Amino acid sequence: MSGGPRITAIRTHLMQAGPLGVSGWTADVKNSITTGTRNWLFVTVETDAGIAGLGEGSGWPRVVEAAVRDLSHVLVGEDAFAIERLWQRMHVAIMGHGMSGVVGQGAIGAIDMALWDIKARALGVPAWQMLGGKVRDRVRAYAHAATPDQARAAVARGYTAIKTGGVANPVEKAAAIRDAVGEEVDLMVDLHGPPWLTAPDAIAICRALEPLHPLFVEEPLAPEDLAGYRRLRDATDVPLAAGERHGGLHGLAPLLLEGLVDVVQPDTGRAGGLTGLRKIAALAEARFATVAPHAGSLGPVAEFAALHLLAAIPNALVLEKMDPDWPGRAQAVTRSPELHDGHLVVPDDPGLGVAIDEAFVAAHPSTRNVGLPRGGWPAGTEEAGLYSQPRHPRGRIARRPRS
Ligand SMILES: [Mg+2]
Repeated sequence: MSGGPRITAIRTHLMQAGPLGVSGWTADVKNSITTGTRNWLFVTVETDAGIAGLGEGSGWPRVVEAAVRDLSHVLVGEDAFAIERLWQRMHVAIMGHGMSGVVGQGAIGAIDMALWDIKARALGVPAWQMLGGKVRDRVRAYAHAATPDQARAAVARGYTAIKTGGVANPVEKAAAIRDAVGEEVDLMVDLHGPPWLTAPDAIAICRALEPLHPLFVEEPLAPEDLAGYRRLRDATDVPLAAGERHGGLHGLAPLLLEGLVDVVQPDTGRAGGLTGLRKIAALAEARFATVAPHAGSLGPVAEFAALHLLAAIPNALVLEKMDPDWPGRAQAVTRSPELHDGHLVVPDDPGLGVAIDEAFVAAHPSTRNVGLPRGGWPAGTEEAGLYSQPRHPRGRIARRPRS
């Protein structure tokens, strides 16, 4: 097999990222304090041609880091240009651990992303050029808002799409924001699919949201509850979105093959890299579904990968943008995407077009990578056990918005 450069080493760079500006997740539940639970895992793949590539993996980064190191044993010495072959090789290498899930797809995806970076750099083209070329020069992004004031501020910064929601009072929040920003701004509502949210709850909430004309309702149910998604699908006309907690092509496939979602939301760091993402996008295209990658726990390298993907696929809808975010986000990398009129400009530099500041990353070592919702538990839920009845104060969460 003719060749590209050979892989010589794979290095990981794990860091503790600061908290999100509007995070509802915390490592300090007792004191309801916002502390960072996010880790960012960057991966460098080095070659004997002196060209290195950069990727990023999510799906529990502290654990994914160990998986990446383990996978390096089946990659060192291999042709870095043989991306699809190595993608299959990695899947076979982890077969003994069961279905690949978010950890496996996070590890495979981080390495795969770096291989695309290597090949595109070596050829002197941006990654989108290898994905089929550009269909757009910029990608629409959406910001987050928990209050009407935050929504107005995001619109003032140029955003034309806003997401709100949460595990408490999502209908009231969405109605207040719709009142504040009007019908011209697209509104999305994320229910985060907690395990206590049942299909009857989700049906009531989605019906209550219909008059607000959301662009989509996200994760109306837990990702494991496919039966609930089928029931919900038949009970509401609101567009449904999901996929951020599923791992890779085969994790997301049931949502698309069964037509359970209108918008698929692969997390760019745990979807099998650009190889996995383009397969997911093609599957969505076959079902006339659009793609809106998840970014919540991700760092700045995966954001560049998402921009290359969305530049090159026909069915890109919108990209999640954590804005505002921890200031260290911009310091961890050499550059950040430009934002104009609520759109991110697609980079034209070779490869993914971004590098990390290794000293900054090393100065923020990982300390913890799990958290709990801050102030977001419905009363009594935790004490009673997640599956005890009554699970949810339905009248409160699903109250219809003011007409
Ligand atoms: Mg979400």
